[in-house]
Amino acid sequence: MELKKQINDKFLSFFGKTGAVYASSGRINLIGEHTDYNGGFVFPGAIDKVIMAEILPNGTDQVNVFSIDINEEAHFGLNEDDAPSQSWACYIFGVCREILKRGGIVKGFDAVFAGNVPLGAGLSSSAALESCFAFAMNDLFNDNGIDKFELARIGQSTEHNYCGVNCGIMDQFASVMGQKGKLMRLDCRSMEFEYFPFESEDYELVLVDSRVKHELADSPYNKRRQSCERVAKRLGLETLRDATLEMLGNILPDITAEDYFRAKFVIEEKERVLAVCEALNAGDFETVGRKMYETHEGLSKDYAVSCEELDFLNDIAKECGVTGSRIMGGGFGGCTINLVRKELTDAFVQTAKDRFNEKYGHEPKEYPVVISDGARKLE
Ligand code: ADP
Ligand code: MG
Repeated sequence: MELKKQINDKFLSFFGKTGAVYASSGRINLIGEHTDYNGGFVFPGAIDKVIMAEILPNGTDQVNVFSIDINEEAHFGLNEDDAPSQSWACYIFGVCREILKRGGIVKGFDAVFAGNVPLGAGLSSSAALESCFAFAMNDLFNDNGIDKFELARIGQSTEHNYCGVNCGIMDQFASVMGQKGKLMRLDCRSMEFEYFPFESEDYELVLVDSRVKHELADSPYNKRRQSCERVAKRLGLETLRDATLEMLGNILPDITAEDYFRAKFVIEEKERVLAVCEALNAGDFETVGRKMYETHEGLSKDYAVSCEELDFLNDIAKECGVTGSRIMGGGFGGCTINLVRKELTDAFVQTAKDRFNEKYGHEPKEYPVVISDGARKLE
């Protein structure tokens, strides 16, 4: 059944009324990986997979919400010590709390929600959930007086303060600010952003989820960050944002080989994002694809955050003539993002599934995605 109808039916049967319907999206990041904490650029867009909620203020100070996908209800008040026990409800409670803490208004409401963003696949279902409710609270109780970028920050603070996830701003930013047919280059230092066209008759995006996740013992993420910080410090810079390969070459005798390769990746990745933006403005998808392969190579060899399964998927993409392919996200598992000529997609996906299954004993999952609008109210 269509998502909206499913939600409308459930809301009516639960609460005997109808509310307003809101949605917000999951996201992809085309290029710009491990750049956020280095003051560089990311390049995300919202996708056609959403969390959707029907919401109606109920005149009390109590929130009653039903999750269709989890098939559970939660009831909570709006004070700091009213946190619900269900982890999915903490995202909604957190959003309410973060708005209140900022001096915004949230009152009691009834809600039913559901979604089709795959959970934990790297498409940021949690950001979609936060953004959907943040947008709705702004519309219902605050006359849309809260700035949209602040809605993204409210989602991010929710993750930090109510869900125990120390994330950056990209996911919530993309979910809130996304526009159909456009990617956004976000400058993670200044927080300025710019839209670039991403629409093509000939190409599409498909994610291939390896469904593996390698948890490594020595917190590789923190180690990467420390390498970058060490090199930046050695260069007398706050972050690697203003570093060049030439500068890096000059301090070569003073840093470890490992730190050198980590910093090299970050510097090159910043340049690649800029090159992809230029290519998109010129409608040059071949260059975009080439840069994606370069990013994969860099993530695999220099930054060392790939794994056998993801490298295997990348090799298959190459063999199948896929225009661009790379790991999406922090690494060590999860999805590859693939830019594919439409006529090649079916063959590529089938080959990837068959060959991966043969080698690793399970099939990857594919998610075709279309760049779409972010947070919004539905008519
Ligand atoms: P992701 O990478 O998809 O953001 P997270 O672990 O950060 O993965 O967030 C997933 C969590 O968000 C789920 O465990 C659940 O609590 C909540 N969530 C996401 N989508 C839904 C949904 N459709 N219904 C209920 N809760 C959801
Ligand atoms: Mg998440």
